[in-house]
Amino acid sequence: MLKIQNYINGELVAPEAGQYLDNYDPSRGTVYSLIPDSDEKDVDRAVAAAKAAFPEWSVTPKDVRSNYLLKIASLIEANLDKLAKAESIDNGKPLHLAKTVDIPRAAANFHFYGTGILHYAAHAHSMEDTAINYTLRQPVGVAGCISPWNLPLYLFSWKIAPALAAGCTVVAKPSEVTPMTAYLLSEICIQAGLPKGVLNIVHGLGAKVGAAITANPQIPVLSFTGGTKTGADIARVAAPMFKKMSLELGGKNPNVIFADCNYEKMLSTTMLSSFANQGQICLCGSRIFVERPIYKKFKADFVEKTKKLLVGDPLGEKTKIGAVVSKPHMEKILSYVELAKQEGGTVLFGGNRVKMDGEFSEGYYLEPTIIEGLSHNCRTNQEEIFGPVVTIMPFDTEEEVLMYANSTIYGLASTVWTENLTRAHRFAANLHSGIVWVNCWLLRDLRTPFGGVKSSGVGREGGFEAIEFFTEPKNICIKLK
Ligand code: NAD
Repeated sequence: MLKIQNYINGELVAPEAGQYLDNYDPSRGTVYSLIPDSDEKDVDRAVAAAKAAFPEWSVTPKDVRSNYLLKIASLIEANLDKLAKAESIDNGKPLHLAKTVDIPRAAANFHFYGTGILHYAAHAHSMEDTAINYTLRQPVGVAGCISPWNLPLYLFSWKIAPALAAGCTVVAKPSEVTPMTAYLLSEICIQAGLPKGVLNIVHGLGAKVGAAITANPQIPVLSFTGGTKTGADIARVAAPMFKKMSLELGGKNPNVIFADCNYEKMLSTTMLSSFANQGQICLCGSRIFVERPIYKKFKADFVEKTKKLLVGDPLGEKTKIGAVVSKPHMEKILSYVELAKQEGGTVLFGGNRVKMDGEFSEGYYLEPTIIEGLSHNCRTNQEEIFGPVVTIMPFDTEEEVLMYANSTIYGLASTVWTENLTRAHRFAANLHSGIVWVNCWLLRDLRTPFGGVKSSGVGREGGFEAIEFFTEPKNICIKLK
């Protein structure tokens, strides 16, 4: 059985204690590879390597750093099929999604920051003939990057690429639930000739490896994506050490549908924003609010289309819904369906585990699920489920639906459907979220700020914001007379 290895100081190495964890194929519910069960010692080794590599990497000319990143991007592209298949098996997501979204985006992340760093310019502030100030942006040091399982290589590379471009060296930890493409990335980095110690990847549990990265005093900057509770745990340890932190956390995103929307576009996009990646995208719109005049029609059409989504083998060509990522996660999602029923909700479609035949009989498959009849403030509509489960609710006025939309502790992304331009601007400005999509969903320009407000996070990724996060500004004031 394949044993995944850590990537430390340019080499693939076993965890010091020699311990491994099981890695599951969620489509079959079986163990198919082993993950290093690393600990603080492995993190210390990785930090030492990253620290030793920092002085040289931080002053390596931008165009040289850029070349490494572009090489990695090309190698990801060249290995698209292999990486997409690995991602699909490791995570349970449909292969076509990994092929068209996850892996191309991972390559795009390296490409974007490999070219972006060449265009980044810091500021100068002239005090007329008295003095000139200019700001240097210097890499912070060893960056700790911790990522989740839902978009494994996509989110892992979204942190690593800007950190490396900015001149930081990196100690990174992918989710222990989906480690495979991070391991394949380490092979790619070796092939690309990335200097040793510049990127180090330590596999293992959050409570061991993640906690050791968070607490390590040699890591002054942390970029984390994951659950809100984990983010709070990290902040509790890192804040008193005055680490720079970017926390991209959970969401409970509203999808607000006005009666004057372009109905067909809205319906087809709402299918994706509800169920893409089995609803396991932090940006999915899991609370769907529909203006009353079109509520009945929407309900009938949405249920009809959802019934047709094929649940099955993630590698199958026609599969629209693969397996959810793990057994505990499947059980968590099912417990929320039970909660919704207890809270008075009616399951319009779904709500059950799908039992497949043969080799897939133990896989973690769930029906896409639509629930109605719940209030906006019940637990089902306030807590993140992170699965193929959505609620639908009618509304009558803009004020009412704005209150519903803004009623959770989260504030990551919102979607609004209307052809009324004035309302679109007004409503978007009043939503409490870091990202608003009007008449679209998940349309990404990598230059734009990405992140949430309230319990959805602190800080922004994307564009030059990420370069600024991984660098410290230093103002230099020169008197002219
Ligand atoms: P998680 O918080 O359980 O784990 C995320 C990462 O943190 C993993 O690598 C994990 O091993 C590590 N970790 C766990 N405990 C740790 C600790 N005490 N110290 C340091 N690291 C620790 O989240 P998950 O279940 O992997 O991912 C799902 C969550 O991620 C959802 O809440 C989802 O909304 C969120 N998410 C947010 C965004 C965003 O951009 N805002 C994107 C994707 C996912």
